[in-house]
Amino acid sequence: MFDSLSGRMTGVFDRLRTRGALSEADVAEAMREVRLAMLDSDVALPVVKDFINRVRERAIGAEVLESISPGQAVAKIVNDALVEALGGAGAVPLNLNAAAPIPILMVGLQGSGKTTTAGKLGLRLGGRERRRVLLASLDTQRPAAQLQLAQLAQRAGVASLPIVAGQTPVQIAQRAMETGRREGYDIVILDTAGRLSIDEALMEEVRQIRAVTNPAETLLVVDAMTGQDAVNTARAFNEAVGVTGIVMTRMDGDARGGAALSMRHITGAPIKLTGSGEKLDALEDFHPERVAGRILGLGDLAGLVEKASDTLDAEESEKLALKMLRGKFDLDDYAAQIKQINKMGSISGILDMLPGMGQMKSQLAGKDLDTSVLKRHTAIISSMTKSERRTPDIIKASRKKRIAAGSGATVQEVNRLLKQFDDMSTMMKRINKLGAKGLMRQGLG
Ligand code: GDP
Repeated sequence: MFDSLSGRMTGVFDRLRTRGALSEADVAEAMREVRLAMLDSDVALPVVKDFINRVRERAIGAEVLESISPGQAVAKIVNDALVEALGGAGAVPLNLNAAAPIPILMVGLQGSGKTTTAGKLGLRLGGRERRRVLLASLDTQRPAAQLQLAQLAQRAGVASLPIVAGQTPVQIAQRAMETGRREGYDIVILDTAGRLSIDEALMEEVRQIRAVTNPAETLLVVDAMTGQDAVNTARAFNEAVGVTGIVMTRMDGDARGGAALSMRHITGAPIKLTGSGEKLDALEDFHPERVAGRILGLGDLAGLVEKASDTLDAEESEKLALKMLRGKFDLDDYAAQIKQINKMGSISGILDMLPGMGQMKSQLAGKDLDTSVLKRHTAIISSMTKSERRTPDIIKASRKKRIAAGSGATVQEVNRLLKQFDDMSTMMKRINKLGAKGLMRQGLG
């Protein structure tokens, strides 16, 4: 997500930042490029206009142009405007300040990821936050829907409402709330039926369910991959039933990102959560300032650290990090790292969070980014001798053949692994050289 937008924005600001003096014309030119990049990324036109006007107004002031590093100052203004467009600094938490059982209503079109998100929320609230959660599917349209949610609930380790045939969605909602009260649940997540498109019957159903349950949150689930349509869907739902927060799914896809940037302006509702995969733990809070950082190529180190500390073996990671810092990273460490990376999910997702990695990602695009390749890498590495793993430079052609044969790989694959390892070492050295201070200097702070 955001790859192309980020690539272009990074380009614009890299050029601006390296310039000493800036004229109004330079700023205007940069703004023209930003405008085009945003439009190409499917950001809604009124949002782009508002954004550009805001930045232009702030950037053309003499104070900015005459500052010591005007490029930096303009980049900071753009960063701030991006954060604003995305909803303002800081994640907006779910509103759970109601008397138990707290109803959370999930709405959205069919296929947007609504049911999956209900399961993810169950896992988060029930697992990490240790609340007693009851999931209930109000979908009487698709016979399998209630069963799907029951299975998700089981995987998430939370309860689901027993299925009773023949009830209407409103009756199920009432039964869910009664069960919630009677059995002492903290939170009741109500998953409504989706439709293929917006229709009045759907909206009326949601309104009735709202009336009988009075939800603390009405979360609209939209698919980021649907771009402008996601924004139109959100507008329609918000006008018809009122939503308190948006969950944007498929952030792991290659959506251009315009929907995320348009949502707040068009609907007024904050994006509260994002989905980044099919697994139940692929649910994240939405931090506008981190997303802005990613768009401007500054990475999302805070997000990466958070994700790492959630999933990784802290001791192991620290050991690897230390080795990297000392430039003593070898193929054994690489294999250990693969193991850790596999735990964290998609590699492209991780690259997104690293500063300046956008370009590397586009170079790697479609090449060695999936985890099956990493598994093969692990096999290849285990066919090497100890000294080869420590100093890969000593591996000559004849050994490559043997290693390939030993691991069921081709010589090309062995070569590719060695090349990738080499690139990675170079990248690490570059990051090390920048160090924490360097990263900050590159940043906008
Ligand atoms: P619903 O009709 O809105 O309830 O949609 P589902 O929850 O059944 O999801 C439809 C499909 O999208 C399923 O195959 C999910 O696994 C998948 N899905 C849901 N959220 C995400 C996400 O964040 N990323 C990806 N890649 N797939 C997702």
